[in-house]
Amino acid sequence: MKKRFLITGGTGFIGSHLTDALLAKGHSVIALDNLETGSRDNVESALSNRNFDLVVGDICDAPLVDKLARKSDVVVHMAARIGLKLVIESPLRTVDVNVRGTEAVMGAATRYRCRTIVASTSEVYGLATKIPSAEEDPITFGSPTKGRWAYACSKAVDEFLALALARERGLPSTVVRLFNTVGPRQSARYGMVLPRFVRQALANEPLTVYGDGTQTRSFCYVGDVVGALLDILDCEATVGEIYNLGNPQEVRILDLAQEVIRQTGSTSTVRFVPFDEAYAAGFEEIHRRVPDITKLHETVGFVPRVSLSEIIAAVIESARKREHVA
Ligand code: UDP
Repeated sequence: MKKRFLITGGTGFIGSHLTDALLAKGHSVIALDNLETGSRDNVESALSNRNFDLVVGDICDAPLVDKLARKSDVVVHMAARIGLKLVIESPLRTVDVNVRGTEAVMGAATRYRCRTIVASTSEVYGLATKIPSAEEDPITFGSPTKGRWAYACSKAVDEFLALALARERGLPSTVVRLFNTVGPRQSARYGMVLPRFVRQALANEPLTVYGDGTQTRSFCYVGDVVGALLDILDCEATVGEIYNLGNPQEVRILDLAQEVIRQTGSTSTVRFVPFDEAYAAGFEEIHRRVPDITKLHETVGFVPRVSLSEIIAAVIESARKREHVA
């Protein structure tokens, strides 16, 4: 059955890939985006599809969100402040978007009984030391005096809200914790490591490894993420639940830098940059981050298909074509 989707953050990196996948299946999509970090270029091909509408506006505009949700069967809430640098520089806007904006989106979704996915983040695991991290694990955040935790904490509030609306108001919502999603269209502008390293390597500039590079991340290909989101929407058992969504293949950031240099054939070297210089004084880094994806695997059969080495190759190829990498 063809459905009408509202995707907040629909011109962003992940939102635009989801838009393309939904349009390809014949669904209609309204992308609501303030174009602060999203981009019209990301939906260039969608714009010529008559089933696609781009609405430039803010999720904090509750009447606008209400009007769009009223026309929709499904809401995928992807809009958020992205990039730690932006988050640390403007904690007020971060909290406003993640709390007031999300409240507007979920309130409207509840009024019109829209099937809803709320994008959360692995940041909510905070300083968790249990690796890999699972949905039921307890969470420890750093002090509110440190800007990074405004993001983690406000996304955790989103999760509480989504689950509470599911339980008490019947909102058919699912929370998805995304772990370092990467792929073509992700901009290097907001500090994300892979597009940054690729841009630096292609320019034969030093790759800026923060700290000593022994910290790890687990990168998941955007196509794997989009496939899982579609499967979650199709699965009734996911309502009222939280799922990790990522690829458990863990890599040290220094090894990532070296692999990017190797695959690009660049003459770049590595430059180590202290965290305080990269972000802000007293910055608290998360040393390891790996998702436990057992729950999503058992519910919808999720298996990430694209390996890290293939992901790096795809990002390099798209950057070489200058496709959306700034
Ligand atoms: N990072 C780095 N150099 C950069 C950008 C990021 O070494 O130019 C590191 C960063 O310190 C973190 C990892 O790469 O350990 C992932 O950073 P990103 O901002 O992509 O994601 P997040 O920190 O949200 O996991």
